[in-house]
Amino acid sequence: MNSIGLATWLRRRAERDGDRSAVTFAGETLSFSALQRDVEAFADVLAACGIQPGERVAYVGFNHSRFLVALFATARVGAIFVPLNFRFTGTELAHNIEDSGAALLIADDAHTAPVDEVRDGLGVQRFLRLGGGADGWDGVDDLLAGTHPHIDEAVVDVDSPALILYTSGTTGRPKGAILTHRNLWTSNVNWMLAVNYNAEHVALTCAPLFHSGGMCVMTLPVLMAGGHVIVHEHFDAALFHDDIEKYRVTSLFMVPAMMLFASRHERFAAADLSSVRIIVAGAAPVPEPMLRLYGARGIPVSQCWGLTETATGATFLGTDRALDKLGSCGTAGMLNEVRLIDFDGDLLTTPGVHGELCVRGDTVTPGYWNMPEATAAALGADGWLRTGDVAYQDEDGYFYIADRLKDMIISGGENVYPAEVESVLYGHPSITEVAVIGAPDERWGERVVAVAVLAEGADLELEELREFAGAELARYKLPLELRIVDVLPRNTTGKVLKHELRARATTEV
Ligand code: AMP
Repeated sequence: MNSIGLATWLRRRAERDGDRSAVTFAGETLSFSALQRDVEAFADVLAACGIQPGERVAYVGFNHSRFLVALFATARVGAIFVPLNFRFTGTELAHNIEDSGAALLIADDAHTAPVDEVRDGLGVQRFLRLGGGADGWDGVDDLLAGTHPHIDEAVVDVDSPALILYTSGTTGRPKGAILTHRNLWTSNVNWMLAVNYNAEHVALTCAPLFHSGGMCVMTLPVLMAGGHVIVHEHFDAALFHDDIEKYRVTSLFMVPAMMLFASRHERFAAADLSSVRIIVAGAAPVPEPMLRLYGARGIPVSQCWGLTETATGATFLGTDRALDKLGSCGTAGMLNEVRLIDFDGDLLTTPGVHGELCVRGDTVTPGYWNMPEATAAALGADGWLRTGDVAYQDEDGYFYIADRLKDMIISGGENVYPAEVESVLYGHPSITEVAVIGAPDERWGERVVAVAVLAEGADLELEELREFAGAELARYKLPLELRIVDVLPRNTTGKVLKHELRARATTEV
């Protein structure tokens, strides 16, 4: 049995490169040996709290170095780490805590209150709070100050769960995607091969660590490679600029919205970004003006596509192809396969034809926690994960995401892919943000509706927008309605809540 789990590779890194900087949070840096020492002490506390291999340890809190300590300590006792979305209400937290069957819950100061609202109904046996104990919570600091038997690193099967990540839930109810130790290190190596992470890399993590993006795109692979991770509690454009300069950050993981916010900050124009060698961007294609803006500062952008269920990156677009393969998310990673199937499940290889993207390989989840039906629906017996993302390939085999399966609009019998329409509408100078949805229509079955946030002082009429977009899109893809709003509703990880827009468009007809 292969037993190189999360705790093992971190320990090996500490044995080899103990003096190197591993994690910095709020100005305090832990070397790899200090991180390993903290992990061991925390694991002793978990064991003293009765945590057994295979049990679940839930965590709700902002990004913090202790988040990573808790993650590796959980692995060291052979238990499963369940990071929760810190923006959730008590009721939303309760759903995931109960679904995972967590035996122990760790919260930071800011998040004990929502847990307290639902605490009585939870099956959790121990409640730990970072810092000192209070109000029925045991303090992690108090426990760490006590004396506990020192435990050995658990021998884990690499194919056993290391994490349960509740997916963002833009579609359907939250499901706990299991990521095994093998999923995680295969994903790390996939990233190292795609982005060339090494011990010289200094990564800045400002995306939430509870989400696969914040955890798997950069944080874990850079640590595994022996690099240094600067952790920010959340994305803060001023601190972002400060720390890039202070720590000579080389690598950033950002979603396009973060790239936009950073670039609009007053510090951006004069900031010293010369240390930054790469921005890895995911979640949506990066618009061309943004690629050029960062490119002009000497910062190449590498784009990727992936899901929680694939431990992030499944396709990667090298920085050298960003402009010549505009809008593409690249080709399969070195350690996973990607293919397109049509709606009957048959393989598609013809360039330009839309189908569902499927992924196979050691980065792919073995399934959803306690949800055999959802697992069977997503994972075929052949090991291919159906992702629900619609894409096509060009003649060179580069993939382009067209949309989510559920997001497809059928208007007058023609399929319209909102992401394609949005990418054109984004080019209109009056538009800062736009989402395209389908609304019920007597004549067409569904009509294409553009919901737009306009630039300050701008106004825009439907006819003008149709004329603009008509230069690039077939008529049936053009919006039949334009709705102007102040903001687009987004979920806690920043995705536009299209079902909410759809519901509004339907009820307000
Ligand atoms: P999550 O599991 O929360 O990471 O969400 C994964 C989903 O985000 C995918 O199924 C896609 O719909 C979307 N996504 C991720 N990367 C990209 C990308 N580069 N372009 C378009 N959509 C993306």
